[in-house]
Amino acid sequence: MKIISVDGIVISSTPFKESSKIINIFTKDMGIIGCIAKGSKSLKSKLRLPSEKFAYGTFHMYYKDNGLSTLIDGDIKNHFINIKSDIIKISYLTYICELASNVFKESNDNEVYNLMEQAILKIEDGLDPKIITNVLELQYLQYLGINLNLDNCVKCGSSKIVTLSLSKGGYVCNNCRTNEPLLDEKVLKLLRLYYYVDISKISNLDIDKDVSDMINTIIDEYYEQYSGVYLKSKKILKDLT
Ligand SMILES: [Zn+2]
Repeated sequence: MKIISVDGIVISSTPFKESSKIINIFTKDMGIIGCIAKGSKSLKSKLRLPSEKFAYGTFHMYYKDNGLSTLIDGDIKNHFINIKSDIIKISYLTYICELASNVFKESNDNEVYNLMEQAILKIEDGLDPKIITNVLELQYLQYLGINLNLDNCVKCGSSKIVTLSLSKGGYVCNNCRTNEPLLDEKVLKLLRLYYYVDISKISNLDIDKDVSDMINTIIDEYYEQYSGVYLKSKKILKDLT
């Protein structure tokens, strides 16, 4: 066993025996690591906060390749005070963590963590959680292998696009469109922006609610029909919002 320090976020925390917890940390560079946090249920334990769900920071542990590692200590980088004061935002955080770990399991790509981290920090900064989550969902499509073509007509390559076709996998022009409903130009433009934006650079969001709601509906529908990802946290979120 060797001692390592990794950045990450606790995505699950389960009581274990009288005083301990078993946690899963989604780490920046090493995927998902299972850890035992011995004695962490005690109020006096230095592992109490680092072993809580959504603890985010640097974790020090005895690392084991196969089986559970042992948490030694943790430095919390951000307590997500803003998110944790709002049940809706907590639901988004729950969903984002569940989605990200599923997308990671599909792709094994560390960029999945980076995108999740940026999205969570933006929500903590006070940006609209629904829009930030939609941006993340769109950017995750490539890691799920169900990318949409949001550059030009997915059938013929024309730049004169009129709507989005989920079944065809991207924008379509008037010639290639069959029975897809037409979409507002603003919706079409924003979808592309969501897809390409650097999440860490988003500073303000000035998007009409009907436009952002439409985009949310489209992304939900695409995930439901094509992603194969079914998450309990998504259902809870939908019931809440
Ligand atoms: Zn076309």
